[in-house]
Amino acid sequence: MSRIERAAIRKILDSRGNATVEVDLYSDGHLSRAAAPSGASTGAHEAQAFPKPGVDEALQIFRKEVGPRLPGRDVGDQSGLDRLLREIDGTPGFSRIGGNVAVAVSLANAKAAAASAGKSLFRFLGGPGSKVLPFPFGNVIGGGRHAVGGTTIQEFLVVAQSASPLANVTANARVHRVVRDALVKRFPTEPLGRGDEGAWIAKLGDEEALGLLADVCRGVESEVGFPVRPALDLAASEFFRDGRYHYRDATLSPEKQIDFLERIIRDYGLFSVEDPFDQDDFGSFARLTQAVGGRCKVIGDDLFVTSVDRLRKGIGLKAGNAILIKPNQIGTLSETRAAVDTAHAAGYATVVSHRSGETTDETIAHLAVAFGSLGIKTGTVGGERTAKLNELIRIEEELGGT
Ligand code: PGA
Ligand code: ZN
Repeated sequence: MSRIERAAIRKILDSRGNATVEVDLYSDGHLSRAAAPSGASTGAHEAQAFPKPGVDEALQIFRKEVGPRLPGRDVGDQSGLDRLLREIDGTPGFSRIGGNVAVAVSLANAKAAAASAGKSLFRFLGGPGSKVLPFPFGNVIGGGRHAVGGTTIQEFLVVAQSASPLANVTANARVHRVVRDALVKRFPTEPLGRGDEGAWIAKLGDEEALGLLADVCRGVESEVGFPVRPALDLAASEFFRDGRYHYRDATLSPEKQIDFLERIIRDYGLFSVEDPFDQDDFGSFARLTQAVGGRCKVIGDDLFVTSVDRLRKGIGLKAGNAILIKPNQIGTLSETRAAVDTAHAAGYATVVSHRSGETTDETIAHLAVAFGSLGIKTGTVGGERTAKLNELIRIEEELGGT
């Protein structure tokens, strides 16, 4: 294995125009680069993206405390590096150096190790057996924290499910396009915008938006001949106040929220529901999973925050049957992988995910394939989203050639 010769960090922009970081590692004269994304509907329990004073402080700490510790390290020692990042930080939530600095260093190192082994990252991390390709979850209609004036529910998604990523990505994009045409027809004089993840911002009620998406999914499904299903990410913590869920046109108690979800999962054939309850309500997750878990994935994002500890608690309570995996929620590749392994060992599905503020870094496509994840949630359109989708298509091609 080769050794790190030089490490550098820089401030770059994410897709919302906010500052984030990317890290360059040089080993054997080879450059390995990884950038970190940022969320808007961040979970209360996830790693802090940057130290309190902001990105500039993160750059300074990297240059003083992290960068100088990297040269000479064997790039093959991923777990040693990830432990070192934890040790330098010294807080449970990476609040001193920032989870985004940690994740960029950690993923850049994995890329360097793969390059030194002469392999693609997905092959290096996944071993020879990783051939199951994840279904892309694509955001089609959006609201919540990602769009001003949109729906209360954050994401109305499509999940196309053939064996081919190219066919799936194409079908998801078709759903996005047909929904656009339907919205233009319905609101011919209204401007039509897109939210942070490229989803349409529609002046629709939540169930109206779901009905429209479900109709379009059915139409595209019959065109393509494989399952094309609707899904939701409610990001419910964002509209949970004083013990109730506040939709634009209704307020629901947790009890009623469970009833509402059971009904829409059945009526619209939802493939998955993510964060249907507040981020600390393991009990409601468990009740919904018991009712619908056989036919619908109940995914914890803000509930689990890619943390083995929170996931173990959920597994013990049978809360959810799937976990969203966001490397920057926890801060290192080793801990990300531990969450995936814990999930799979308990029969939970995994969905590797982008953040709403993204860069063109394509690493998560490799992670989703290497981990053998059920899905990859990374939008439908938009440069920073298609960077991952197109990488998935390249991986499909590489696997086809073996
Ligand atoms: P975030 O949202 O990146 O803004 O946190 C994405 C999600 O909730 O899945
Ligand atoms: Zn989410």
